[in-house]
Amino acid sequence: MSDAATKPKPATAEAERELTDGFNLIIDALKLNGLNTIYGVPGIPITDFGRMAQAAGIRVLSFRHEQNAGYAASIAGFLTKKPGVCLTVSAPGFLNGLTALAHATTNCFPMILISGSSEREIVDLQQGDYEEMDQLAIAKPLCKAAFRVLHAQDIGIGVARAIRAAVSGRPGGVYLDLPAKLFGQVMDAAAGQKSLVKVIDAAPAQIPAPDAIKRALDVLKGAKRPLIILGKGAAYAQADDAIRAFVEKSGVPFLPMSMGKGLLPDTHPQCAGAARSTVLAQSDVVMLIGARLNWLLSHGKGKAWGTEPKKFIQVDIEPKEMDSNVEIVAPVVGDIGSCVSALLQGMGGAWPAAPADWVKTVTSKRDENVAKMAPRLMNNNSPMDYHGALGVLRTVIKERPDASLVNEGANTLDLARGIIDMYQPRKRLDVGTWGIMGIGMGYAIAAAIETGKPVLCVEGDSAFGFSGMEVETICRYKLPVCIVIFNNDGIYRGTDVNSVSDDPAPTVFVKGSRYDKMIEAFGGVGVNATSPDELKRAVNAAMDSGKPTLINAVLDPAAGSESGRIGNLNPQSVLKKK
Ligand code: ADP
Ligand code: MG
Repeated sequence: MSDAATKPKPATAEAERELTDGFNLIIDALKLNGLNTIYGVPGIPITDFGRMAQAAGIRVLSFRHEQNAGYAASIAGFLTKKPGVCLTVSAPGFLNGLTALAHATTNCFPMILISGSSEREIVDLQQGDYEEMDQLAIAKPLCKAAFRVLHAQDIGIGVARAIRAAVSGRPGGVYLDLPAKLFGQVMDAAAGQKSLVKVIDAAPAQIPAPDAIKRALDVLKGAKRPLIILGKGAAYAQADDAIRAFVEKSGVPFLPMSMGKGLLPDTHPQCAGAARSTVLAQSDVVMLIGARLNWLLSHGKGKAWGTEPKKFIQVDIEPKEMDSNVEIVAPVVGDIGSCVSALLQGMGGAWPAAPADWVKTVTSKRDENVAKMAPRLMNNNSPMDYHGALGVLRTVIKERPDASLVNEGANTLDLARGIIDMYQPRKRLDVGTWGIMGIGMGYAIAAAIETGKPVLCVEGDSAFGFSGMEVETICRYKLPVCIVIFNNDGIYRGTDVNSVSDDPAPTVFVKGSRYDKMIEAFGGVGVNATSPDELKRAVNAAMDSGKPTLINAVLDPAAGSESGRIGNLNPQSVLKKK
C-alpha cells in the first residue's frame, strides 16, 4: 500500500489550514525586528521556547542565573542601540531578572525582559498557582513600560510596543509578560503573519530647536574657562564622528564620564581626564552631552565644583532632565546625533579658539598628574599593588584598543578607571549609574557576543563573587574572555579582624583563595599571577589565544581603601567601641 492510501484524507478545508502558535509568533516577531540574540535561563514555561528560538536561528545564550543574563541584555542594548532581550521563567526567575531591568532603566539602556508567567485566572484569585505572582504589577514601577499579551493575535503588537518603548526617547527597560497559556495558543498561520509588526523608525530623530542651538553656542562662545563633559548617553548615541568634530572644532577641554571614555581617546590633547578636580572647580561654562548631574558629578554643586559661578549647557534627549539639580541656562533637547550636528553647523566656518590661558592651565595640570603617576605604574612589586597590576593592564588595552574592558569593584574600579586609557567608544563597560557590583560576567559575555572581539574583565575579588558561576557559561560558549581578579582577600581590604569571636570580620574572605582553579573545572585556563610580569604574560597569552582564562592576581591584602573613592558615602559610627 502506498503512503497516500494510508494517510487519512482531511475531512474539511478547515483541517487543511496551516497553523501557527504563540511560540512561533513570538520568535517570528523578534526576528522580524532584528532581535537575534536572547540572554536567559530556561525553565517552566519557556524551556521549549528557547529550543525553538535556537532552531529558528536566534542565538540563545543560557546563563546560570537570570540577573547575569539580564545584565548581559542591558549592555547588549547599550552596545547596539537595539533592545537587549532577557528571557526568564516566572516569579523567582522574573524577580532575578528584574534587578537588571531596573538597572537598564536607571542607566538609560534599552532592554526587554520577557518572562513567562503562571495562569492568570489562578494568580488573580490568589489561589496558589505554581510560581504565583502578579509580575506585571511588580515590574511596572521599576521600568519604563510594562505590557502583557493574552492572545496570540496580539503578539505582534505587544513586541512592537516593547521595542518602541525601549529605544525611543530616553532608552530604558521594558517588561513583557507572557502567560504560559499564550505559548500554546494556535491560530491561522497567514493571519498570524499578518498580525506581526515590523517597527518602522523605532527611535525617531529628535531635532533640537534652532534657538536652543543658538543659545547654547552663545553661552559657549562667551566662556572664559569652558568644559565639555561627555557621558554614556553620548557613547550610546553612536554619533562618534560628529562628537569628535564638534569637540575638536571648539578646542574646549573635555572630560569623559566613565563609560564616555574612548569617544575621543583619553590621550587626545584636549582630554582633561587627569585634571578632573581642576576643571570641575575652575570652569565657568560646562556643556554636558549625554551626562546627568547626578551623584557621579556631585549634583553640579558643592565643594567639587569650586567657588567659581557656573553656567550649564545640557544636551539631552529627556526634557525633564533639565534643571534636575541646578539651573541649566541653555537646554538643548534632542537626540545627541541631531544636536551635535546642529551645533557643528551653527558654529559656521570660523569659531574662536578656546581661551589659551585656560587650555594651558588644564594641560599643564594634566601633564603634571600623568607624570606623577607614571613611575608608580611601572613597579614590579610582589605581592602586587593596584598601580603595578593596572600599569600592565593599561598597556594591554593600549596595544588592543578594540578589546572591551569590563570593570567592577571598589578600588579596582576607581583606580582602573583613572589608569587604563581608552581609545575607542563603547569599550569601557562598568558599574554605571548605581555603582553596582555584579555586572561583570554578564557584561563580559554580552560584550564578546555583540562585538566579536576579546574582552578583558578587571574584577575585584568581591565583585567577581556576584556573577562568578558564569565562568562555566563563558567556557561553554568558548568566549574570548580574560578575567583578572584583583585578589586582596576581601572587600576593600583583606586585613580586618574580628576581636570578639572566631568568625571572620564581615569584610574578609578566605585568605590565599585560588580563583583560577574555578575556571579549570570547566576546561578554561587558570593562572595564578604573583607579579606584574607574570600578570602581563598571562593576559597577553589569553588575549592572543581567545581562550576563556581566569587570572588570580595576588594583591597585597593591605592594598585598597574603604569604599574606594566614595568613602564619603559610607557612614561611620562615632560611638563605635574600640
Ligand atoms: P554618565 O553616567 O556617563 O554621566 P548618564 O547615564 O548620567 O551618563 O546620562 C546619560 C544621559 O544621556 C541621560 O540623561 C539620557 O537621557 C541621555 N541620552 C541617552 N541616549 C541619548 C541620545 N541618543 N540622545 C540624547 N541623549 C541621550
Ligand atoms: Mg577585594
